[in-house]
Amino acid sequence: MEKGQMLYEGKAKQVFETNNPNEVIVRYKDDATAFNAQKKGQVDKKGELNNAISTLIFEYLQEKEIPTHFIKQLDDREQLVKKVNIIPLEMVVRNYSAGSMAQRLGVEEGIKSPVTIFDICYKKDELGDPLINDHHAVFLGAATYDELDEMYELTDVINELLIDLFDKMNIILVDFKIELGKTADGEIVLADEISPDTCRLWDKDTMKKLDKDRFRRDLGEVTEAYEEIYNRLKKVLNK
Ligand code: UDP
Repeated sequence: MEKGQMLYEGKAKQVFETNNPNEVIVRYKDDATAFNAQKKGQVDKKGELNNAISTLIFEYLQEKEIPTHFIKQLDDREQLVKKVNIIPLEMVVRNYSAGSMAQRLGVEEGIKSPVTIFDICYKKDELGDPLINDHHAVFLGAATYDELDEMYELTDVINELLIDLFDKMNIILVDFKIELGKTADGEIVLADEISPDTCRLWDKDTMKKLDKDRFRRDLGEVTEAYEEIYNRLKKVLNK
């Protein structure tokens, strides 16, 4: 397998073509952005840590029969994945109030929700990834109603599996974002990454934030928090 030209560069990752048209290489960078890239910085070792963390989580989900784009980890910073067309919707799940939802609704962070809350955001940097609803998604041609049903169902199962995994790590899964993609044969699969960049993770005993909010809010010890997640994951997955 050969690494070819860069196809795409995002805020935290680069994507390269390979000599197989159905596979691409994802490379994780140390760059960190927040608030629609208004805040920019670097987090030491973030690329390596997110690559390792996301690999372990995708392997765990695949073992639980979740369809994903993941093929294998190649090295410290790179993964081989199936080439997919990313569906331009961020699937956000919330088990507790936090972040933009707490702000929008004027509630404090950390309130456990009696129901699983799903938000969808339209992936459009120029607009700051606005919160939309199902009808807007269908209007935009991002997905059909049937596809949305399938996407919510898959996201819900992933949430249950992740709650369970993080619970064993003594961590509360507050909320997270996933992206789904369509493979060449039309299957909807989990794509992108699952890491402290894309989840809010709070230590159950101390409520310490072990995620990107440490960067967003200048709380310090960002690398240490990501390392903590990686170490607890390895322990609970016997890796
Ligand atoms: N999230 C993400 N990428 C985004 C926006 C949000 O990974 O572009 C994650 C974020 O880390 C959190 C969850 O989705 O775990 C919900 O984020 P929220 O809508 O509260 O937005 P934020 O407060 O991060 O702006």
